[in-house]
Amino acid sequence: MTKNLPPPIANLIPVTAPFSPEQRAWLNGFFAGYLDLGGVSITPLSPEESANLMAGVVPSAKGPLGDGDDGEAPWHDPSLNMPDRMKLADGRPLRRRMMAAMAQQDCGQCGYNCEDYSNALVLKKEERLNLCVPGGKETARMLKKLAEEFGSETASAAPSPATEPVATPQSAPGRSRENPAVAKFVSRSRLNKPGSEKETWHIEFDLAECDLDYVVGDSFGLFPTNDPALAEAVLQAIAAPPDFPIGGRTLREVLIDGVSLAPAPDMLFQLISYITGGDRRQKAKALAAGEDPDGDADTLDVLALAQDQPRPSVAHRR
Ligand code: SF4
Repeated sequence: MTKNLPPPIANLIPVTAPFSPEQRAWLNGFFAGYLDLGGVSITPLSPEESANLMAGVVPSAKGPLGDGDDGEAPWHDPSLNMPDRMKLADGRPLRRRMMAAMAQQDCGQCGYNCEDYSNALVLKKEERLNLCVPGGKETARMLKKLAEEFGSETASAAPSPATEPVATPQSAPGRSRENPAVAKFVSRSRLNKPGSEKETWHIEFDLAECDLDYVVGDSFGLFPTNDPALAEAVLQAIAAPPDFPIGGRTLREVLIDGVSLAPAPDMLFQLISYITGGDRRQKAKALAAGEDPDGDADTLDVLALAQDQPRPSVAHRR
């Protein structure tokens, strides 16, 4: 009598490799199929499964996204700096490391809390890598690095706040970043003692007329607009017409509520490196890479850059 034994499992991924057992099993199957190992029963991964695997999302495993993560987030502490947070998230799935790259305030300014934002990025429900306001450039750069590291399309597809229009509102007012409700600002008072390095504010809003059902514990994001006078100054500095069309809106409208005008984004430094030469180009390239060759990076807002650089010929391309 003979007995049909199951084909041997190919162990191509060392047990010391930084993968969960489920990820290792998938990878063993993937590479065994890729290398055409005889006698091994392989079910090839679909393109979506492969992408999820690279992102750390494995449907058969435990955890909220099925990636075997234990759900603990020791980095979720706003007082920790970026290197310490990334160290604590080392070896975790991509979505967890992306979360660690964020500012951990659960402030809602990205339109999510930190965990939901990172999940949305990995699941490609959100493409923008620069929404973490308190995390600023440091978070945006780390998210971009993580996305690139995994060959994610997220990085290349991410729109820039300096070039992309605000998305069409899809939900009820107050339910998303794209469609905020208008609330009345009442007051603010600083909670720190004079001379304190920290800056913490108590801010009050009147929600009576904005139809929000906010309860204590909900995230409450604020989306300020730029001063129209600042937008005008930028328009003058780049000699562009206010009604220049961008994504169905005017350039003036976009400059007021579609982009941040301070500090200057890395992409603007990158653009300047393309249109200048010599030392100016080298400095712009360094600034775009997150360096600060002259120690003045903190002072370089969009207006300062626009006034100091050769004018891009926006008006001539109309
Ligand atoms: S903006 Fe979003 S990701 Fe950044 S700290 Fe606030 S909730 Fe977290």
